[in-house]
Amino acid sequence: MNEGAEKFDLVIAGGGIVGATLACLLDGLELRVALVEQRLPDEGELPFQESDLRFDPRVSALNESSRQVLGDVGVWSWIQGVRSCDYREMRVWDAEGTGSIHFSAAALGADSLGAIVENSIVLAGIYERLRGQDNLSLVSPFTSAALESEDGGESVLIGESGRRLQACLLVGADGGNSAIRRLANMSSTEWDYGQAALVTTVRTARSHEFTAWQRFLETGPVAFLPLAAAGESEFRHSSVVWSTQPDEAEKLLRLPDEQFRARLAFAIEHRLGEVEWSDRRFRFPLRQHHADSYVKDNIVLAGDSAHTIHPLAGQGVNLGIRDVAVLAEELRAGLAAGRRLNDPVVLRRYERRRKSDNLGMMWAMEGLHRLFGAQPLPLRWLRNTGLNLVDRAAPLKNFLARRAIGA
Ligand SMILES: Cc1cc2nc3c(=O)[nH]c(=O)nc-3n(C[C@H](O)[C@H](O)[C@H](O)COP(=O)(O)OP(=O)(O)OC[C@H]3O[C@@H](n4cnc5c(N)ncnc54)[C@H](O)[C@@H]3O)c2cc1C
Repeated sequence: MNEGAEKFDLVIAGGGIVGATLACLLDGLELRVALVEQRLPDEGELPFQESDLRFDPRVSALNESSRQVLGDVGVWSWIQGVRSCDYREMRVWDAEGTGSIHFSAAALGADSLGAIVENSIVLAGIYERLRGQDNLSLVSPFTSAALESEDGGESVLIGESGRRLQACLLVGADGGNSAIRRLANMSSTEWDYGQAALVTTVRTARSHEFTAWQRFLETGPVAFLPLAAAGESEFRHSSVVWSTQPDEAEKLLRLPDEQFRARLAFAIEHRLGEVEWSDRRFRFPLRQHHADSYVKDNIVLAGDSAHTIHPLAGQGVNLGIRDVAVLAEELRAGLAAGRRLNDPVVLRRYERRRKSDNLGMMWAMEGLHRLFGAQPLPLRWLRNTGLNLVDRAAPLKNFLARRAIGA
């Protein structure tokens, strides 16, 4: 054993939504699990109260499959008890033509297409659940800084403070700039979209009608995602994700509030009326990457550390939650069959099951991104005609919608 190292069976590096969900999914197993995180959410404090009309600027559209996973570990009902906003319809249209598509939950026989949740509320719910978990040590603050391999196939993760954590299996769930991926020399294919996302919360003159609205502009998509607070009756708050060229995002970030609101209302074609109020604006660079392999020796990657995807389809967290649901399933099956946690057969099964799904979704998003970014007339015609055709072809439309909602 490594001198001075704390010994665990499994260390999860990164306690975002994906890593923390994995920790929940390992509850009940006879394993010593550590979840390491730079900064944990404050204990017992809700970032936003149910009836606040201020919202976290970072939200996610959780699909049915993610809600199921969070429900199975007892977190979804907690989140719903605070707040989330089910959306029943989605309207997508092209600024450069007449193409449009409309999805509705009713057509799929579902209650909703998904739920918009604030990331900080999801995390607060997960950590509320994790703080009582017997087999788990929360190690924070801890910033992963170095990695050593031990004889016998174990790893030692070393924090900036010098703290050492030894593990049979190390899971990198530390986001798009994963330190684990870098420290383990795991290669990744990256491509820059040449875009940035501007994120904010707004109040509009008209109700969002529990609909997700997305318009494709020449420079990228602008999306309005519905929000709801307890006791609210007008439902006029939406979370905005506006993907555009980095220099335009910079300009939008600096515009005086009133000018920004006018630009935004124009960008979404005033479908929700004027934008009456807007909160602080934040900017995120948009890069897509996919790790060439999710497994190296006793190290596995999950969530954004394995893949990041354009937010236009709101699938990043959903893919990550699916990753850890499958990983936990394979680890449980492996343990039940007497295999070690770092058994390559178990880890490769996880990789095989997740890679095809993740790559399929990434290529679909890449295709959409290119098609909607294209200006040549034939491509504009194709996408307008294609959108309208898909809108009228019920079986194909329902297939696409079911895949997106994770049914
Ligand atoms: C503008 C925008 C909008 C989006 N909208 C949606 C949406 O609607 N739906 C959706 O599904 N997805 C959406 N996404 C994607 C989604 O936010 C990500 O896929 C998701 O947050 C990934 O979760 P994660 O836990 O893998 O990584 P992260 O959320 O990045 O968490 C990683 C964690 O690791 C910790 N960490 C990092 N480095 C270290 C280190 N060295 N040591 C210790 N800890 C470390 C961090 O503190 C963090 O807590 C959006 C993304 C963007 C940019």
